[in-house]
Amino acid sequence: MNLLNQLISYGIDKKIITNLSESILKLSSLFKVESFDFHAEPYVIDDLLENLLDYGFKHHLFSPDTIMERDCFEALIFDQIMHTPEETKQQFNKLFNQDPNLAVHYLYELSKNVNYIKTKRLNQNIKWVYDSVYGPLQMTINLSKPEKDPKDIAKALSKPKDLEVKHGPKCVLCKENEHRYENARMNLRIVPMTLGNELWHFQYSPYGYYNEHSIILSDEHRNMKLSHQTFDYLLDFLELMPEYFIGSNADIPIVGGSILNHDHFQAGRHTFPIQDAKIIKNYGMQNQVEIKHLDWPLSTIRLKSKNRIELTRLACEFFDAWKSYTNLELDIIAKTDQIHQTITPIARIHKGFYELDIVLRNNRTSKQYPDGIFHPHQDVQHIKKENIGLIEAMGLAILPGRLKEELELSLQYIQNGKEDQSLEQHKPWLDELKKKMTIQTVNDLYIEVGKVFTRVLEDSGVFKLNDKGMNAIDSFILEVLHQK
Ligand SMILES: [Zn+2]
Repeated sequence: MNLLNQLISYGIDKKIITNLSESILKLSSLFKVESFDFHAEPYVIDDLLENLLDYGFKHHLFSPDTIMERDCFEALIFDQIMHTPEETKQQFNKLFNQDPNLAVHYLYELSKNVNYIKTKRLNQNIKWVYDSVYGPLQMTINLSKPEKDPKDIAKALSKPKDLEVKHGPKCVLCKENEHRYENARMNLRIVPMTLGNELWHFQYSPYGYYNEHSIILSDEHRNMKLSHQTFDYLLDFLELMPEYFIGSNADIPIVGGSILNHDHFQAGRHTFPIQDAKIIKNYGMQNQVEIKHLDWPLSTIRLKSKNRIELTRLACEFFDAWKSYTNLELDIIAKTDQIHQTITPIARIHKGFYELDIVLRNNRTSKQYPDGIFHPHQDVQHIKKENIGLIEAMGLAILPGRLKEELELSLQYIQNGKEDQSLEQHKPWLDELKKKMTIQTVNDLYIEVGKVFTRVLEDSGVFKLNDKGMNAIDSFILEVLHQK
């Protein structure tokens, strides 16, 4: 079949195929065609995949014809020609022993070339930079996650559930997702990694929010839990992959990420705005560790050292002190009937030094702020109401896809008063902008969205950058350093 010859040509060009005769056998079996002799064929990869999926649907190899089911079958097609999960782990380890960069390059290219990382869909995302008072913030409207098709929901409902619970993954992060047809994971490859003397698994994220966006998940399905050991995991990772940053979401609702029931980290090769934040106060050096308070809307303390043991010791002291810190005047209460305080830790190696950014978080709610006192307040939730997790805390906004259309409609509203139902939540904001008469294009609106995102981050900061807040965090840091 001509399409299969094209696919094999692509597989050979991208070095996905290592065993030609086996790939031909597997593909002809999947597509229920006779085995064939390979000859190279020119291809346009996006068209080729569409054609293969159309063929598959027409010949009842999958149904219904939804984006989700097409993704599942596409993953299965690539699975026929790529390294098996076992071979991938072997190849990764072999390369890792030569040079960790070669190993991650192999896994990253593989994940991209078999479309596990959906580069084409990711390229649709709208990106811009907003110059805030804290430095340039990275803004993204996320258009790459397809909406759920009602046909997929109906199919999921009609499936017997018991089997899945017994043998399948307990959540979307579990290692059992590797090489699984549902959720289009037949082309997912994960590799083992030892952090803190425990087994973890490393993989790339299909959502690619930033360069080489990767996830490190615990072998066991267990809740997110930050502890002293967290710093060991993070720093162990940096010793394996010194060119990547790594961070963890907070481990409690509102200030944590969207997945709290499976312990994991996120890493990658990317410079986030927080890394270049200015310094508000430098506390000098203590036991070979430099201590700084960053000029960043979320309260952040940076520790920097070449001495891993001293660095970890001080990080643990800050962590413990924060867990029990209360300041009624600033509405910071560590504990009610539940624990409210935790951190969002970020680690990287910068110019030969370990750098640990400790972002102080609190998830308490009040009558005035039922969604969270240190969470985007009501008046900015029309732009962002989701949790401010690790990625946002570092200054990269991931905004909902609905905004693309809403901002286009907003422009029409500002310019010629054209109403639309979807603009209801934006009205107070738009009426203010209308008065200012500075909005000419959608790009002007993007700048305004950047301003709102800055507010979102400021709302999430526990010590505000005003006199009261700065004095309080100064005292907090000095107390931990035993200088007060
Ligand atoms: Zn899990």
